Amino acid sequence: MQSQNELRNILQRIDRRGYPAYKDTKGAYEFPGYVFSIDHVQGDPFAAPSKVSIRIRGKQAGFPEDLWKEPCRRVALQDYLLRQFAKAVEQVSFQAKGSGKSGLMAVSRPGQEVLERSACEIDGKTGDMVLRMEIGFPANGRSINAGELEKICFQFLPQCVKKSLFYASLKRDEVKAAADLAEDQQYIRKELHKSELTAFVANGSILPRESGVSGRPMKNAVPFVSPKSLEVTMELPHHGRITGMGIKNGITLIVGGGYHGKSTLLKALEAGVYNHIAGDGREYVITEDTAVKIRAEDGRSIRSTDISMFIHDLPNGKDTVSFYTEDASGSTSQAANVVESMEAGTKTFLIDEDTSATNFMIRDELMQRVVHRDAEPIVPFIDRVEELYHTYGISTILVAGSSGSYFHKADCILQMNRYEPFEITDFAKEQAKQFPLPEQKAPEAKAPEFARRVRPDRMVREDHRVKIKTMGRDGIMINKETIDVRYVEQLADSEQLAALGYLLCYANQHLFDGKKTLRETADRLYEIMEQKGMAAICESSYLPCGLAKPRKQEFFACVNRYRRLGL
Ligand code: ADP
Ligand code: MG
Repeated sequence: MQSQNELRNILQRIDRRGYPAYKDTKGAYEFPGYVFSIDHVQGDPFAAPSKVSIRIRGKQAGFPEDLWKEPCRRVALQDYLLRQFAKAVEQVSFQAKGSGKSGLMAVSRPGQEVLERSACEIDGKTGDMVLRMEIGFPANGRSINAGELEKICFQFLPQCVKKSLFYASLKRDEVKAAADLAEDQQYIRKELHKSELTAFVANGSILPRESGVSGRPMKNAVPFVSPKSLEVTMELPHHGRITGMGIKNGITLIVGGGYHGKSTLLKALEAGVYNHIAGDGREYVITEDTAVKIRAEDGRSIRSTDISMFIHDLPNGKDTVSFYTEDASGSTSQAANVVESMEAGTKTFLIDEDTSATNFMIRDELMQRVVHRDAEPIVPFIDRVEELYHTYGISTILVAGSSGSYFHKADCILQMNRYEPFEITDFAKEQAKQFPLPEQKAPEAKAPEFARRVRPDRMVREDHRVKIKTMGRDGIMINKETIDVRYVEQLADSEQLAALGYLLCYANQHLFDGKKTLRETADRLYEIMEQKGMAAICESSYLPCGLAKPRKQEFFACVNRYRRLGL
């Protein structure tokens, strides 16, 4: 470890020299209260900015143990500190000047979700903290402007650190509130399991968002109110008594007129697998955390997926027990999404008719009379939905505004009316009696086998300098191969895509061996992360800053859309 003066000396020595001389700054320097570490230096002022980290001893940061010993409270504290630090950094970014990215100071900017991120990590044993960020090392043209970097390291950054990373300078009640909220959210999640519920939506929640491109709550929205018959009350450790709608395990149908808030409720449930920050409106909308949104996804690839419970006897004789296609149809893609999610261990399907293939969801009576079952390769979801629950323990929450067929199958029917849910199970069941479903029985289905073994992407296996890039929230590029995840709707943040890029790379190099099954691979990968943190799967000399931990379900989704893998 060097002293801060040594950094000053280096900076003075390399001032005005060619940009590569900045490489000499790599190393760790002792500042008052923290260690400033330059982990990676950019090659020129226009390249991706340099990576630095700030390390603070638990004792020095001063956060009471109660804020970070429990994992869920720790994640919330990390998130809170990152947000405070990001606010401070925003004020000073580009205050130092120069060409290209000179003076840029950037740190992850979390959205509404509270996720584990590489940008801020606290050690659960010691309380030691690491904050990771990017800095554009300043230059004039291509020569070093060390004076400006000196401003950043000795003036701007210390200000930000002091303001936002020490307990003494933060609002105690706010910090505690963030951790308490996370603990309450975790409590609800555990309660769901105990009470055989799939999801909980607290009264007073604000479900709609400001706009299609914003995660913030809509202003003046109608607050959520549970139907009396579905009300559940819980006693949260910090918030105390809370009442809301409990959606029971089983088959739940959400109906209602167009524009009455059905999809908005489902979207909130999709997002409910994550915790949300205070003020989001969905703080107490909690969904069982393996829930997966299922939708049609024309054009995706499918490799060796057993979709035979939904599709069999295709006219071209194609095998549907081990189904392959480079360009799936609406129905086959949705069938694959269902089966692959079963493989990924989900206990809840979330389905919206808006984004489903009609022929996958239902077949009406007239069509069944005209086109006999034997001539139809598709066994629609409606004929499997009960079996999925009774045999596999997988619940379904389904939005359907235009077809009444599911009335017969649902255990609970909700009607959204002007954004307010009403339970109409008895009424709808009574009405449905007058429209019985045709008696044709669906053919017996064998349980899908989940024995797919993964052979690696050779390009990644053999090459140790793999390029990982993310395209916003839409795709992950590994070398030249793009994995399209636009329709993996529960990815909340582009940083999760970046992390998935690393996970896939690691799996290619160490786990995909043509012998282990996909399930075994995923379990192993998440075990490694659990034990050793994200750093264990990023094999560079430093942990990059912009990574957020994805769920296992989304890892499966990526593998399933990665066309260069052998499955
Ligand atoms: P549906 O799926 O029933 O057709 P949506 O869920 O798409 O309806 O909602 C229709 C519109 O109403 C959306 O623009 C949405 O933002 C808005 N909306 C949904 N819930 C509420 C609410 N609680 N208060 C105010 N507006 C809402
Ligand atoms: Mg809708």
